[in-house]
Amino acid sequence: MTDQLHRGAAPDAARLDAADPLADRRALFHLPEGLIYLDGNSLGPLPKGVAERVAATVSTEWGGSLIRGWNAHGWMDLPDRVGDRIGRLIGAAPGSVTVGDSTSVNLFKALAAAVAMRPERAVILSDDGNFPTDLYMAEGLNGLRGRGRLKLVPRAEIAEAIDADTAVVMLTEVDYRTGHKADMAAVTAKAHAAGAVMVWDLAHSTGAFPVDLTASGAEFAVGCGYKYLNGGPGAPAFLYVRPDLAGEAVPALSGWLGHAAPFAFEPAYRPAEGAARMRVGTPPILSLSALDAALDAFEGVDMALVREKSVALAELFISEVARLAPMGSLTLVSPPAAARGSQVSYRHAQGYAVMQALIAEGVIGDFRAPDVMRFGFAPLYLRFTDVAEAALRLADILSSGRWDRPAFHARAKVT
Ligand SMILES: *Cc1c(COP(=O)(O)O)cnc(C)c1O
Repeated sequence: MTDQLHRGAAPDAARLDAADPLADRRALFHLPEGLIYLDGNSLGPLPKGVAERVAATVSTEWGGSLIRGWNAHGWMDLPDRVGDRIGRLIGAAPGSVTVGDSTSVNLFKALAAAVAMRPERAVILSDDGNFPTDLYMAEGLNGLRGRGRLKLVPRAEIAEAIDADTAVVMLTEVDYRTGHKADMAAVTAKAHAAGAVMVWDLAHSTGAFPVDLTASGAEFAVGCGYKYLNGGPGAPAFLYVRPDLAGEAVPALSGWLGHAAPFAFEPAYRPAEGAARMRVGTPPILSLSALDAALDAFEGVDMALVREKSVALAELFISEVARLAPMGSLTLVSPPAAARGSQVSYRHAQGYAVMQALIAEGVIGDFRAPDVMRFGFAPLYLRFTDVAEAALRLADILSSGRWDRPAFHARAKVT
């Protein structure tokens, strides 16, 4: 606080909060008093109404209706209803998004359908900094098929690396370490010009800024329910299938609930129409109801305003860190706003310990090996004053060296 008095508080923060058109959304979340949460890109906070909805689903629907709930409460359609709500946020037509399983599993399903569309081509192309599970799933798929190759190039070289042997380009729109945001329309156009199929991972995009899958023309996309969508730990993920492929994409995980008529109990598999064919087993109704209730926070929200605020929050954080932190103590690794998602990352040789100290002082971000500190900016519940205060506390921890205590160096399982 004395620092704040000496150096002057961020002059704009309170004024920006007063003019923020999304300011009222904060009241829709449970946020622990006094805590500044900059990790909604990893696990979104608990929206109000979720606990009540889950409790009602458990007690009234499951407890009271028992198996009648599948019809009485529309459980069977929940994956597709929630899919349509997510679809609005990512520019996907109704019926083109289904929800269930994890992002990893959905990526496997999308990749398997994508490679089957280009049987004569060998390569799944991705960037060498992609989120590991995406790369692991591609390797697993190739292993299972006994053919195909995962080719990895630096993110900046993806477009040039697409060629006539590329079956699928698999990319995460926002890099989880640096926050770099790819040009979705341009990369998709490049993939299509070379005859490749495009699969996007929208884990760090969905709910953070507007996405226009329809305009991009991409064939498949996947994304997370527990990051910016706030669906809770391990929330079901989603899978998008371009509508014109709805009768063509072959589900590799041909489960009974992706069947055209699950309750006809036919011995042979026959996929449903639309993204619903990518369903596998019985939908997770409890976690789907949590995600469904969480999506109420996005109801009526203009995603363009979300992007505008996300950029403004990040810019304020970057300028305050630059103004207050000791010279040279941090290296900004995120690109300028136009090529950035909704997070800001810095390198620091002792980034893990610095982040633990910051968390101990009430600002939660996270750390990604080997040396990256990440700060996520979720516009529905963050205030500009929170962001300015977080920068101040970070700068103070760096100036004082308070991070250099043995307790802050001890690594936990989840960083
Ligand atoms: C968070 C994230 C995932 C998570 O996958 P799960 O199967 O839900 O654990 C996958 N891919 C990317 C790019 C992510 O950021």
